[in-house]
Amino acid sequence: MITGIHHVTAIAGDPQTNVNFYAGTLGLRLVKQTINYDDPGTYHLYYGDGLGRPGTILTFFPWKNARRGRAGTGQVVATALSIPVGAADFWRERLTTKGVAFDDHGTTLSFTDGDGLPLLLTEVAGDTRPGDNGAADVPGQYAIRGVDSVTLQVGTASPTLELLTGQMGFDISTDGDGRFTVGADTSGNAVYLHEAEEGDAPGLSGAGTVHHVAFRVPDDAAQATWQAELTTAGYHVSPVMDRQYFHSIYYREPGGVLFEIATDPPGFVADGETPETLGKRLQLPDWLEGKRDAIEAHLPKLTLP
Ligand code: ZN
Repeated sequence: MITGIHHVTAIAGDPQTNVNFYAGTLGLRLVKQTINYDDPGTYHLYYGDGLGRPGTILTFFPWKNARRGRAGTGQVVATALSIPVGAADFWRERLTTKGVAFDDHGTTLSFTDGDGLPLLLTEVAGDTRPGDNGAADVPGQYAIRGVDSVTLQVGTASPTLELLTGQMGFDISTDGDGRFTVGADTSGNAVYLHEAEEGDAPGLSGAGTVHHVAFRVPDDAAQATWQAELTTAGYHVSPVMDRQYFHSIYYREPGGVLFEIATDPPGFVADGETPETLGKRLQLPDWLEGKRDAIEAHLPKLTLP
């Protein structure tokens, strides 16, 4: 059973700009500083709530000189973050103070991060996630609760629709708003599907675009079942990858968006960090710990807000 969204991973430019925006402006907690396991000279930064609970996580591969991408067909074109009902006023003021231009849709504010990544803050009723992100200047009653939804833009909706509502178990909401949800939770579990229209350009990977969206499963056994079922259904599914904080498989949905299925355990304390120290120090996998000095010397120093 897929129980919701696990995380969204995007490409970014300058890592300090990324920290300033997500840990500063948006008041998320930087729960993990590590490196891109496939490119150890660069960071992989994870943000979320106080513990980086599944469903609250945004992760970034920041490359200082990354070429700017363009959100478009074959990608996640919007990521919505949930805020409590009544919190839009606080965020309206905060984004203004921080110099972030936004479009005001009442209970939803849309804007981009410094690299152009499309984001929304949207008031969601009944989102009971704690929002214990801990930013000193974002009072808990206004804090971001986690990911609410992602919007997929695809050339032809029907094959993606079939995957979502067939194999993956999503239900379409009866409101006619095009919202698909999965799992028993009432939040952090929604997908919107947008069929490209005349004038919608194909996505171009680069800074300011989503790399993939990950969905949650409770454990390795559930993941193995998905791996087998999706393979049987004709998808090219990756082997299980140990991402240290969760285990992952990847496959491309028919519209071209990269999907991941990630396990809830072991979580961000798996490397020995504690809930108090999460994100404060660069964490390396065991196989790179011996190269810590060289890696640290190569990475730009980050200042946390
Ligand atoms: Zn991922």
